[in-house]
Amino acid sequence: MKNTIIVAPHPDDEIIGNFEILTTTHPMIIYDADTFKKRRDIALKLKEHADISIQLFHKNIPAPFLNKENTIYIPDPIYELHPLHRYWGNIGEQLARDGYDIVFYSTNMNAPYIHEVKKSNAKEELLNKVYPDQSDLWKYDKKYILFEGRTKWIF
Ligand SMILES: [Zn+2]
Repeated sequence: MKNTIIVAPHPDDEIIGNFEILTTTHPMIIYDADTFKKRRDIALKLKEHADISIQLFHKNIPAPFLNKENTIYIPDPIYELHPLHRYWGNIGEQLARDGYDIVFYSTNMNAPYIHEVKKSNAKEELLNKVYPDQSDLWKYDKKYILFEGRTKWIF
């Protein structure tokens, strides 16, 4: 069976980087289990607003999800700045080289492949509902709301 998987190093990366994917597929979201418990609890709130399932894992994607039929969204290993994003990006690069269907995404919107989000109002609304504590991030910098970027590598 073909599934969509979003790897979110931190809760909020799934919406900031993949709102369009979240709202058009029924993805499984994998959060890094090392992120703070409070933020994980908040992430579970996302289930009330989006048709998703959630898994928490340490530092890898478990074998049952590593299916070449699945499309896996993972942070970009080159353009992302946060070390945890780059860590996951490197895992994604290795998987892509091994023939898995990997899509790299941007959360800082400094990548050369970003585009405008059509339903940016709905994106902002969802972020405010699920992550009200972090709203300063997108209140003062609209790039997190207005843009998303995803790319595939060809080998
Ligand atoms: Zn993050």
